[in-house]
Amino acid sequence: RTRKRFGQHFLHDRNLVDLMVRTLGLQKDDTLVEIGPGRGALTYPLLEDIPHLHVVELDRDLIALLRQENSPERLTIHESDALRFDFRTLKPADKPLRVIGNLPYNISTPLIFHLLSQADAISDMTFMLQKEVVDRLTASPGTRDWGRLSIMVQYHCQADYLFFVPPEAFSPPPRVDSAVVRLIPHASPPHPADDEEHLRRLVAQAFTQRRKAIRNSLKSQVTLDQFEQAGIDAGLRPDQLSVADYVALANITRPDSAKA
Ligand code: SAM
Repeated sequence: RTRKRFGQHFLHDRNLVDLMVRTLGLQKDDTLVEIGPGRGALTYPLLEDIPHLHVVELDRDLIALLRQENSPERLTIHESDALRFDFRTLKPADKPLRVIGNLPYNISTPLIFHLLSQADAISDMTFMLQKEVVDRLTASPGTRDWGRLSIMVQYHCQADYLFFVPPEAFSPPPRVDSAVVRLIPHASPPHPADDEEHLRRLVAQAFTQRRKAIRNSLKSQVTLDQFEQAGIDAGLRPDQLSVADYVALANITRPDSAKA
């Protein structure tokens, strides 16, 4: 049986599984972590390419199944909520981790932020997600999908759209289209924010009025002088500003900037 609350849709299209595994270009000594292995649709093909794999799974019944069918030398099973899991503990001294997963869609956004908070331990993440979310993760400024999620994720990493996955690739089929995305954390942010929490709040505030000039939604946060100092046209809409623009605004207006 499947558990709806765990977002369980199992992949059964072998071509798509193979495509997802091939896009990883796995090396034998990669330390790879799969989130939500389920019944192993990705796990077994991954184990054909590498000698050892870590998996993080929450569903006890599925864990029991994985334990029965795999030797602990090849598969390390972490019975845990991926949202609370400390991925850094798996990182070997010499190399960052690689992460893959056909994620439970109901927790995909918090999970991505949880992983990005440990991005120093991770070289890349390849995820199957709701296509709508992938479109937002990989959007460019000035497009319909550009918003808070695009900005805060692209602040931390490069996001590439890999390929489309139709509902029929899963059992049971989800109600939405899916797609595969690759996230590659920046070694250091190209536009560093002095205070990331302040950046996050400013971006959230900016998008409260998506269709109006940004000077309206940021009226109580950013003065017209500060827009000018940051080199940003205050008449633009929030979805026309880049990550660099938001970082510039955040750094100019951060609460303790006067003291610095
Ligand atoms: N990888 C399998 C596949 O492609 O067929 C299963 C994918 S299914 C969409 C998501 C999997 O994540 C399920 O096995 C589910 O039990 C597991 N899961 C759900 N919430 C989780 C959480 N918080 N932490 C770890 N695993 C979770």
